Amino acid sequence: MVEPAVILYPGREKSVLLRHPWIFASAIASVLGNPAVGETASVFDSKKQFIAKAAFSPDSKIRARVWTWNSTEVIDREFLKARIKASIERRSIYRKTENTTALRLVFGEADGIPGLIVDQYNNTLVAQILSAGPERHRQDIFGILEELVKPDQIYERSDVDVRNLEKLEERDGIVSGTPLKSNLVITENGVKYSVDVCEGQKTGFYIDQRRNRNKIKELVKDKDVLNCFCYTGGFTLNALAGGARTVVSVDSSAPALEQLKQNIALNGFDENRNEVIEGDIFKLLRLFRDQAKSFDMIVLDPPKFAPTVSQAEKAARGYKDINLLAFKLLRPGGILVTFSCSGGISRDLFQKIITSAAADAGVDGRIIDQLSQSPDHPVALNFPESFYLKGLIVEK
Ligand code: SAH
Repeated sequence: MVEPAVILYPGREKSVLLRHPWIFASAIASVLGNPAVGETASVFDSKKQFIAKAAFSPDSKIRARVWTWNSTEVIDREFLKARIKASIERRSIYRKTENTTALRLVFGEADGIPGLIVDQYNNTLVAQILSAGPERHRQDIFGILEELVKPDQIYERSDVDVRNLEKLEERDGIVSGTPLKSNLVITENGVKYSVDVCEGQKTGFYIDQRRNRNKIKELVKDKDVLNCFCYTGGFTLNALAGGARTVVSVDSSAPALEQLKQNIALNGFDENRNEVIEGDIFKLLRLFRDQAKSFDMIVLDPPKFAPTVSQAEKAARGYKDINLLAFKLLRPGGILVTFSCSGGISRDLFQKIITSAAADAGVDGRIIDQLSQSPDHPVALNFPESFYLKGLIVEK
């Protein structure tokens, strides 16, 4: 029997030698040994020199994802345990510095475990398996998580479309431990959030915005705030905690807004300081402009408009549109807190879009802070795709 192997075209080994973990189908000259979905294959350059060991995914454009560049390593339970353990241990500092009970323990490729996301909410783990490699080792991975963390339960949220690119079926549900009967209540920087890990967006909460949510507290005192794309109220609750005069919170998701109202009650904030509007931001910002409304701070945290570079142009128009309108609605001296979580939009491009929005609005803005994803979502040097969340705080 031939050992599974992937042979690359001449020159296509370069990025892999720079430790980029993705091997595209177009880089592969031949596949030997007929590897199954997620099976480990050795990767060789065109001169048959060993380069890496990777998880094979026969239906994905990302045909293989590298586990290791070391030929002596075997991809088994022990290997996975060492990787997961190291990933969790890297977070031990954040358990002290981040002041939260919600932390991302494993961030896929950025933690050397391609396709695996693990978030911890109190003592519950929520896992997402996004590609064929970890799918094949699913049972081992859950066993390892139980062994290392001893959680009350593990819930799987592998119900994401990217799995379709690997021809994997979507799956969600309790994996081990006591079934969840209600939402979990986490505490982050003194603010409580009720999190629905079963039905909520992502794994239930935008953990990546932690530092940015906390940041606005110091800027909101006595201000009138408009929080666009508010979801369950991350920025709203911090605005209220920081002494904002009023907040208007807008999202298109009714369940998210219901949750936001509960979160306001959970924290004992005065619900009259916050107005909730269910609607489309693109329309609402125009309506507010026509009504000559104005605010001291506007937060724009839209969903991913451009998952990949190919959608960047259309996405850029969307970002420019909402930012231009926001600049118009801001009072002089007002503050825009604006984000893009699109992997396809670089920090440079994002800043150019904001610059052009300000120019068209006739505004001279000054950047007073540059924001990014919180550190439990690290950016791996060898995997620049792990950098996705960009934010600017701009003063009008
Ligand atoms: N700021 C939030 C996360 C925002 S995620 C936090 O810190 O938790 C993006 C949100 O935008 C989602 O809740 C989604 O429901 C909402 N959304 C998407 N498109 C929208 C639109 N056109 N108008 C209003 N809300 C929208």
